[in-house]
Amino acid sequence: MSVSSPNPAVDGTPRIPADLKASEKQASDALASEKKDFIRQIVRDDLASGRHVAIRTRFPPEPNGYLHIGHAKAICLDFGIAAEFGGDCNLRLDDTNPAKEDPEYVRAIQDDVRWLGFDWHDLRHASDYFEVFYLSAEKLIRQGDAFVCDLSADEVREYRGSLTEPGRNSPFSDRGIEENLDLFRRMRAGEFADGTRTLRAKIDMTSGNINLRDPAIYRIKHVEHQNTGNAWPIYPMYDYAHSLSDAVEGITHSLCTLEFEDHRPLYDWCVDRVDLANSPELVKSLTDKGLPFEAAKPRQIEFSRLNFNFLVMSKRKLLAMVNDKLVDGWDDPRMPTLQGIRRRGYTPSALRLMVDRVGISKQNSLLDISILEGALRDDLDSAAPRRMGVIEPLKLILTNLADEHTETLHFSNHPKDESFGMREVPFARELWIEREDFAEIPPPGFKRLKLDGDVRLRGAGIIHCDAVVKDADGTVIEVHCTLDPASRPGMEGANRKIKGTIHWVSAAHAIATEIRLYDRLFTVADPDNDDDGKTYVDYLNPDSRKVVTGYVEPSAATATPEQSLQFERVGYFVADRYDHTPEAPVFNRSVTLRDTWASKA
Ligand code: ATP
Ligand code: MG
Repeated sequence: MSVSSPNPAVDGTPRIPADLKASEKQASDALASEKKDFIRQIVRDDLASGRHVAIRTRFPPEPNGYLHIGHAKAICLDFGIAAEFGGDCNLRLDDTNPAKEDPEYVRAIQDDVRWLGFDWHDLRHASDYFEVFYLSAEKLIRQGDAFVCDLSADEVREYRGSLTEPGRNSPFSDRGIEENLDLFRRMRAGEFADGTRTLRAKIDMTSGNINLRDPAIYRIKHVEHQNTGNAWPIYPMYDYAHSLSDAVEGITHSLCTLEFEDHRPLYDWCVDRVDLANSPELVKSLTDKGLPFEAAKPRQIEFSRLNFNFLVMSKRKLLAMVNDKLVDGWDDPRMPTLQGIRRRGYTPSALRLMVDRVGISKQNSLLDISILEGALRDDLDSAAPRRMGVIEPLKLILTNLADEHTETLHFSNHPKDESFGMREVPFARELWIEREDFAEIPPPGFKRLKLDGDVRLRGAGIIHCDAVVKDADGTVIEVHCTLDPASRPGMEGANRKIKGTIHWVSAAHAIATEIRLYDRLFTVADPDNDDDGKTYVDYLNPDSRKVVTGYVEPSAATATPEQSLQFERVGYFVADRYDHTPEAPVFNRSVTLRDTWASKA
């Protein structure tokens, strides 16, 4: 894998660099809305040729963890394509593995799909189909397409051969049909111990595709299943269960990630040999359970996984990060889980925009995280109301205003969109400004406040700094300024040219606020690279979260949980989904206004 700009454009989808200007962005978004990618083209052709009159897709997560940003791509494709072409998409929980699959995950998956803006035609569980899978396996046995194998796992491996050597037939592959049926039924009845036997498809031990070398389709596992309890001591293998689930549900286009490309021949083999559409006895086992059956020959189509640098995205590693307490939980705002980035302030529209920009191809690549962050900035630039908030406060006193001076200023909520309306901002003699907006010894080119210098207070007028007050350590604790009355809004000097503008809040009116300054969790682009003997744990960013107390104007504090705001000049923030209240506000930094990492790279 190599780092590249999004979308290697193998299928005619536009190539979009990370640093587009606004006008270019609009153009690229318009292009994206035509969506000419190869999968949509296949769907278009299939509808035009009459191969399908309607399409159906599915999103099939295994409920063994929380969904992450990568899944957002699959969700947007599966649900998005169905919606665009007037079809349906099922949410199927792929629960064929009775290992730890938790109802907590099942709930979160549904929550995440809905949050992204999609809804399913039907909610299914692969375990709904255990009976039809079982009967289909008996059918395969009767057709001479499957046999019970007594080889141990090690022996199976030995017989399988390698990429360069063909495999050898199992000594059990010529068992008679009756013996196979009897043994398989006894597997199902729970007579044999785990691992002693498997049911294997009989395909071709010399195939160049190792997946076709008589793959196991059932294994013995005396493990309780969260849906079916102890009803089944045998469980179907992924390729078999997945292809048949698609066939049962009438899935026309089964979209999956590239690692399944080599499994496609097995997928097709299972669908063809079981041939549900021409097996009334199998269909009956479904309809008897109240499950609809809509015949379609599903077609598997693979696309590349979404991978970003600076992130770790496999469920296994995310689970380890949670268990090792490297983060606060699955919904820690630094996690790439959908629950995490949602709490961080990512919006569904930002994620959909990101998926559109990245496009669809068959080439795996590691994308730059700036594409993800850029999509959020672009979405929030138009969607987030503006407010003023001070992260690291420094007291500023306007010495020429009376102690009790208070006034109400009127600010527009969005510089480019009048529909956001106006708000009232209290202004008074004592303000909080950002500590870094004042410099005692200004660096070259410093345009903000310095002793004897002028700066504009956003929306209030121009001030001149006359004096500073320091504590015993020499730290500046107050700056004393005079406000130029002629520069107030509406006065003739209001537009006097001045280099810098800073934000502020009225000290008497501002609300003290917990501000969680989140940053990237890892300091290196490829934390997942274990080659150098280090693991992602060695690359944790010690500054990925800083919690400070800042001050926000009153109309920021009243934000509702999950509302995004731009604190002018500071960044995009979101009112924390769980902890924020108007009385005790908590804001999470979603993303800075500019990419502060680009210069470090
Ligand atoms: P992980 O490897 O992160 O544990 P998974 O592939 O095992 O993920 P599933 O629950 O099996 O996760 O995935 C459900 C669907 O989401 C599958 O169709 C899978 O191909 C797709 N998917 C998973 N990860 C990505 C990704 N990074 N990019 C695009 N699609 C993905
Ligand atoms: Mg999986």
